[in-house]
Amino acid sequence: MSQANGHDDRTHPLPPVATAYGAAASPEIDSPAPPRVPDQRGPDPRAPEARARESDPHAPVSEPDASVSDPHAPVVDPHARIEAALAELDLERKVRLLTGSGFWRTAAEPAIGLREMVLCDGPAGVRGERFDEREPSASLPCPTALAASWDEDLVERVGVLLAGEARRKGVDVVLGPTVNLQRSPYAGRHFECYSEDPLLSGRIGAALVRGVQSRGVAATVKHYTANDSETERYSVDVRMSERALHEVHLAAFEEIVRAGGVWALMAAYNSVDGVTMTESPLLETPLRTEWGFDGLVVSDWFATRSTEGAGRAGLDLAMPGPGPDQPWGAALVAAVRDGRVPERAVDDKVRHLLLLASRVGALDGVRPPAPAPAPAPEPAALLREAAAAGIVLLRDTGTALPLDPGRLRRVAVLGPNADTPRIQGGGSATVIPPYTIGPLAGLRAALGPEVRVEHAVGARIRHRLPAVTEAEVRDPGSGARGLRVRFFGPDGDVLHEELRGGGRLLWLDDPIVARAVAIEAVGVLEVGEDGPHRIGVAGVGRFRLAADNVVVVDEDLVTDDPLGGILTPPERWAELDLKAGQEVELRLRHEFALERPGTGFVLGVDPPAAHENEDLAHAVAIAADAEVAIVVVGSTEESDSEGRDRIHLSLPGRQDELIRRVAEVNPNTVVVLNSGSPVLLPWRSEVAAILVGWFPGQEFGAALADVLLGRVEPGGRLPVTWPAYEDDPAVLTTTPIAGRLDYTEGIHIGHRGWARAGATPAYPFGHGLGWTTWTHVAVETASSGPDFVARVTVRNTGTRPGRHLIQAYLSRPDSTVERPVSWLASYTHAEADPNTETTVDLHIPARAFQHWAAGKGPQTEPGTYTLHIGSSSTTLPLTTTLTIPSPNPA
Ligand code: BGC
Repeated sequence: MSQANGHDDRTHPLPPVATAYGAAASPEIDSPAPPRVPDQRGPDPRAPEARARESDPHAPVSEPDASVSDPHAPVVDPHARIEAALAELDLERKVRLLTGSGFWRTAAEPAIGLREMVLCDGPAGVRGERFDEREPSASLPCPTALAASWDEDLVERVGVLLAGEARRKGVDVVLGPTVNLQRSPYAGRHFECYSEDPLLSGRIGAALVRGVQSRGVAATVKHYTANDSETERYSVDVRMSERALHEVHLAAFEEIVRAGGVWALMAAYNSVDGVTMTESPLLETPLRTEWGFDGLVVSDWFATRSTEGAGRAGLDLAMPGPGPDQPWGAALVAAVRDGRVPERAVDDKVRHLLLLASRVGALDGVRPPAPAPAPAPEPAALLREAAAAGIVLLRDTGTALPLDPGRLRRVAVLGPNADTPRIQGGGSATVIPPYTIGPLAGLRAALGPEVRVEHAVGARIRHRLPAVTEAEVRDPGSGARGLRVRFFGPDGDVLHEELRGGGRLLWLDDPIVARAVAIEAVGVLEVGEDGPHRIGVAGVGRFRLAADNVVVVDEDLVTDDPLGGILTPPERWAELDLKAGQEVELRLRHEFALERPGTGFVLGVDPPAAHENEDLAHAVAIAADAEVAIVVVGSTEESDSEGRDRIHLSLPGRQDELIRRVAEVNPNTVVVLNSGSPVLLPWRSEVAAILVGWFPGQEFGAALADVLLGRVEPGGRLPVTWPAYEDDPAVLTTTPIAGRLDYTEGIHIGHRGWARAGATPAYPFGHGLGWTTWTHVAVETASSGPDFVARVTVRNTGTRPGRHLIQAYLSRPDSTVERPVSWLASYTHAEADPNTETTVDLHIPARAFQHWAAGKGPQTEPGTYTLHIGSSSTTLPLTTTLTIPSPNPA
């Protein structure tokens, strides 16, 4: 055994038309679930009702349980109930409620009938308190993929699914949606946000919130505000004009508060205008005073930085807790006693917490809004529908797609993400899915036994150390698949042991971990192939890893990021030359401080890297022999993750080369992009078709096959502009200078910035093809109170029935104020059979005409606006005008 060490640090009815129409018409050319390991751990720390709610993850989402929506529960005016409860609490007891009682929990106060509430991530699935392969969570398409559907009804149904998952896992408050804007493709959490456009972000986010909350589970809109990138995320001071802040960056939050009626909001880590968001005046105005938010403001995790500043500000709940590093608790009691923080500020915070509790059923005597009984959605079917609804067909020469299994004999399915796709982005949005259907498996199943499907990776892309899998290791004692994990107390006694299904292990708020000083994970690695294997650990704390009793890592790993141990822990590994069939006992011991409520690590094994040239040649040879080559490429865990921004926009490794070489030998090359944010496509004119799958969740392969075989249309349209070059003028940096990140683009974010720069992206905002073609025939408009309605007629000019996203933009070239070249004002879908016209109504809200004037607030400039109708921000064949009358005509 040789060794080398290394490391890597949502149509509105047209009202009776009272006003004359303005008309214009211009035709346009236009894997099965892993077996569940019996739980051998100690007592489950969660409340009995939470445990009871848990059921088979594959089972349909259950209806809300009766304990929360009990029709016999007493109905009490929550506000009277809250005031009565507040009057019963002294200062200490009130303040105690304002810091978490654990990583995911709020404090209970039995004296007033308040139970703990559980808050958990997040936007793409509900994690639950235990991040554990034995308690998997439905993995949804990432938020960008959901927004790409532009379909609020669908997203609302996904919200109901999330609520069902929350109930199953005993979660009262879901930490999502994330509605920061996709200001830059470099942003690490791009995949977790909906769009670069505030209107689309607001409408999709509000739909999700309605779905979640319709089942009595709270949603939390986050991160308020301007938390659009990760570099220096805990401290960056974001600067922008008052107008950009209100007109662009607060707009989605406003929609979600006003139209979504969200019950909770998360204050971000960053500062805006020099004030950290947990102390920001924006928590009061506009949030409560103008928008009427009555919910709970919770800090991002570890984002509460002061006793007084945060105490006086609009922050209600500091998470997580408790612990010596929490700035509230006794210090806040003292600050109130000294008059540094008014007690009424504390009272208001408690009121907000109790109102949230009454809404989710955590406060005795108040009946939460009872959801109407409805048939529960079936998770797998909805997840598959949603993933397909987000897939964007960027390019289609018409030669390769849709695939017809009856006419195909050989299909090549290539690329690093074909068999091992990336279904979700990194960080707190990550969940452990019950299973994943990759593109290869999905296509094999859909194409059937008559079509020969061949696969090669073709280009290996560098990942962080992958966690050893259940298939690779066995318990040396029992011989069962997996790792034997033991917890040791201070005296060396074994407190508990369990069999785990893989090497990614995380315990938060765990009573056993709190009593332990060390954890040992042992497994016999059954080596599958000859060659150098990277074997190591990722985590924070002391680690000693031995392979067949030879110590290969012995180190104290540290990070200064409070969440670094979970997000991107430091890695240490050794390279061992191993032979197929060899068995190596891996023994990893992790030591940590007593009474630590949580820890975690990854025990990783990375099999030998293939010989890149041979692997690529093999993929090309398979492609040459196939009628169609489908190349699934994408990003690695090094990008598209919370905690860090991307450093470049190219596909990692030799994926561009793989695509080019495959395209040279096969004219029917179809590229599927499995990435959470835009990547550069230098070969885009050389291939037959390009689809963006995003991070589509656990049903990826099934959804992709549905689209590729033409069983469903690719429903997605880009929610973000797709740049062509790294140095395109509208690609913005996320790197602060001296701690400050200046949003110099002002109101010209995303497609607005591209239009202003006169630059041509690879694919514009709103772009996406279907299986048929459309022309935009005519638009008529009418006023509807302060709003307008645009009645748009489109024609399906293709050969298949289809669904078309109609987008409406406004412009005001003669404006007296600075304006975007054009801005999104509305959208809706139209459906029609071939050679058929259909007419739909788009609601253009009065709000779409408003701009923010510094010191004055929202203003509407009277006069004539141009309304543009089309299929993307740059393909707008129909125009008409809309006139806002002057309030005081001369
Ligand atoms: C993230 C939040 C998340 C919280 C709890 C933070 O680091 O920014 O989005 O809800 O952790 O996991």
